[in-house]
Amino acid sequence: MQRWLSLLILCCGILACGDPGEGSALTKPEAPPYIPIERFGVIWDGLQIDSGTVQSGHSLSHILGPAGVSAGAIATLANQTKTTYDVRNIRAQQPYWIAFDEDSVQPARYFVYQRNATQYARFDLRPPYGVALESYSTDTLIERAHGIIESSLYVDLERVGAPSNLALSMAAVYAWTVDFSRLQEGDAFDVLYERVYVNDQPVGMPRVIVCHFEHRGSKLPAYRFDQGAGNDYFDEDGNSLRKAFLKAPVEFSRISSRYNLKRFHPILNRTKAHYGTDYAAPAGTPILAVGDGVVTKSSYTKGNGKYVKIRHNSTYKTQYLHMSKRAVTVGEHVRQGQVIGYVGSTGLATGPHVCFRFWKNGKQVDHLKEDFPPSEPIEASQMNAFQAAVSEWRARIQDREFAVR
Ligand SMILES: [Zn+2]
Repeated sequence: MQRWLSLLILCCGILACGDPGEGSALTKPEAPPYIPIERFGVIWDGLQIDSGTVQSGHSLSHILGPAGVSAGAIATLANQTKTTYDVRNIRAQQPYWIAFDEDSVQPARYFVYQRNATQYARFDLRPPYGVALESYSTDTLIERAHGIIESSLYVDLERVGAPSNLALSMAAVYAWTVDFSRLQEGDAFDVLYERVYVNDQPVGMPRVIVCHFEHRGSKLPAYRFDQGAGNDYFDEDGNSLRKAFLKAPVEFSRISSRYNLKRFHPILNRTKAHYGTDYAAPAGTPILAVGDGVVTKSSYTKGNGKYVKIRHNSTYKTQYLHMSKRAVTVGEHVRQGQVIGYVGSTGLATGPHVCFRFWKNGKQVDHLKEDFPPSEPIEASQMNAFQAAVSEWRARIQDREFAVR
């Protein structure tokens, strides 16, 4: 019975849909316009979609073989698309989609591989084969977060509804001025940042535009500005927030031994890595902190003699060995150029010198080979444009109604 009914409806359908010719009285009410669903730059309607993420060690054949694409077709595809997108660049953990014609026994029609948060490669799996590299449309929104430090920047950003990875962006902006692992309760932040969205989902790192950070009672404004060499951050007067370290911890000294992993040690009579740079200078010469920071050690060991260690920020630490006398204590805040001790030859030393050691991200490195970012202020020719940008952003960040989260 059911079948007959279906057939009847089908027949009526055919009759009703017969070409009525122009000016027919059979005009039906106008149907809403058909808008095909498009995704990845192709009509996605009526396709059957398999999706997954690339497994570790898997190549295109692991993914497309089960989708009915023959080994020969995969080889041809890989070869033909190589100059636009080399399939050997497909990486594990990235999402992909395979599109089949519905009810089709044919091999899959498209393979879409997501290269990163904003780009994908769409492969046409039928002859003559091909690949198109496309980008999703993105929206960049300006958002704001402000609050007071109660525990840590990460936690407090989340508490006020901001992305916690904004903490990393802020730490990069203030890398030379604020040690974010040593924030105080009551420090405050007010930050405008850009965030890129794809399909309403945030992607990538938020980017700081302007930040007013209050640390230990000092206001530390940071404004983003590009004076030709890429974005950098400046205070309201146009001084770079980056600070160069002093080139050497003692003035009028000479380097007597460089950082060398295979140095022959003059006292131990054997090869021993030298993780520092030795600056020879007369005993009693002042030793200077190469940058602002906090003294984490002021101590004595048999090898180091009297020494001082300074933590500058979450990236950099320095250490000064063989002092005749130390001039700072643990926990003390020091400024760049401040005298922290005096040259001597305590510990394992053949003569008066400072063995200067430099840590970057927990590793001892040769500071003479480090490429420090420039710390140039705003150039005179850019000052008007910079001041205009500062006024605009300052007005926006001070407008409490703006983008309050
Ligand atoms: Zn040394």
